[in-house]
Amino acid sequence: MSEPVLIVGGGIGGLALALALAKTGRRSVVLEQRSSFDGPGAGIQLGPNGVRVLQRLGLAEALKPAVGVPDALAVHHGTTGRTLAVLPLGRWIAARHGAPYWVAHRGDLHAVLAAAAAADPRITLRAAFALASPLVTETGVQARSTTGDVVAGAALVGADGLWSVTRHFIAPGHVPHFVGSTAARCVIPAAQAGRLALPAVGLWLTRGANVVHYPVRGGSEIAAVLITAETWASTQWDAAVDRTLLLKRLWTFHASLAEPLAKAGEWRKWALHRLLPLPHWALGRLALIGDAAHPMLPHLAQGGVLALEDAVTLADALAAHPDDDAQAFLAFERQRRRRAARVEALSALNGRIYHLTPPLSWARNGVLGLLPGSWLMAGYDWLYGWRG
Ligand SMILES: Cc1cc2nc3c(=O)[nH]c(=O)nc-3n(C[C@H](O)[C@H](O)[C@H](O)COP(=O)(O)OP(=O)(O)OC[C@H]3O[C@@H](n4cnc5c(N)ncnc54)[C@H](O)[C@@H]3O)c2cc1C
Repeated sequence: MSEPVLIVGGGIGGLALALALAKTGRRSVVLEQRSSFDGPGAGIQLGPNGVRVLQRLGLAEALKPAVGVPDALAVHHGTTGRTLAVLPLGRWIAARHGAPYWVAHRGDLHAVLAAAAAADPRITLRAAFALASPLVTETGVQARSTTGDVVAGAALVGADGLWSVTRHFIAPGHVPHFVGSTAARCVIPAAQAGRLALPAVGLWLTRGANVVHYPVRGGSEIAAVLITAETWASTQWDAAVDRTLLLKRLWTFHASLAEPLAKAGEWRKWALHRLLPLPHWALGRLALIGDAAHPMLPHLAQGGVLALEDAVTLADALAAHPDDDAQAFLAFERQRRRRAARVEALSALNGRIYHLTPPLSWARNGVLGLLPGSWLMAGYDWLYGWRG
């Protein structure tokens, strides 16, 4: 039996890759620096392209009871609360792409991924293993942890996120740069969410900031994220929020949004970063997937979904090159680069459009009001219609 693939990082991409490999009969060891495989307490949108991957991995039924299925994406003027556009989701998008648009709590998604991985005999989960360096040998690879532990395998995939350690060994010197904004997230009970408790994704736009919210946990809770221009360039993941500053920013939005969100018990925040396209994602027996290869700004809600797409594409490539992992990694990179770059660029562009100031924001709002929502959503067919 061939040596396992070492996967660094037990996030969405790493766990999905382990499960996709197991479906092809390949063993893997997932090395995660945290002490457990649970996920952060925030929301995640899963476009049809992501749900299709979950269906393929046999996980969709397990997650289904916990998801929200929004009817529409409603775009609102941030300060007046006026609805600028309504883009169809729900049945419309499910019929168009053969898979639904879901919104979920990350904890629920992680729990489903981690439970399936823990139950599969071809997957070994190892928590509290922080990769310090990978070592490529004549016949395979070794992962060395920060405490000196060593795990051996045939090849190593860095699914270790935005601040990937693996990336240093594949594309040295390439580090993410701060884009001048932060994302603060909270989850509130639907009972106290007022107008936000609708089965829809809400997007509120104002100068230099936007809010996105949607129902999670079967509609019993609402997840929200406030993205705003800020100078806090931290590399910290999931940091505490200065509540006074946050409330000040929140109250620049219409009261029907600000009031319920101001009641949220806890907000956590992230500084948003971009990474210039890497010269390569693969080097011999080492490769990168997900945010380690191509981090995304959140304005298209696709970073996690692309990590899912990467996972199944890489597993297919490894199965197609059973005797040559390095060739499989190159084939994977060739298949994925252009799409990842397109999604990344569009995410960044969306952020600029969301945060426009007058008079350009007036033009944006006018265009949104004129164009049919279904026409606007059809512009994303190339994104949501992905089939690998
Ligand atoms: C505000 C915000 C909203 C978002 N909304 C969405 C959305 O709605 N939909 C969507 O699809 N995407 C969304 N994203 C993007 C999404 O969160 C990421 O793209 C996704 O989490 C990437 O998954 P990943 O597995 O590549 O990396 P991660 O989720 O970052 O996982 C990396 C894992 O590697 C581990 N790790 C790191 N270093 C090491 C090491 N040295 N050794 C061992 N383990 C290590 C980490 O602990 C972590 O568990 C959003 C992002 C933000 C910031």
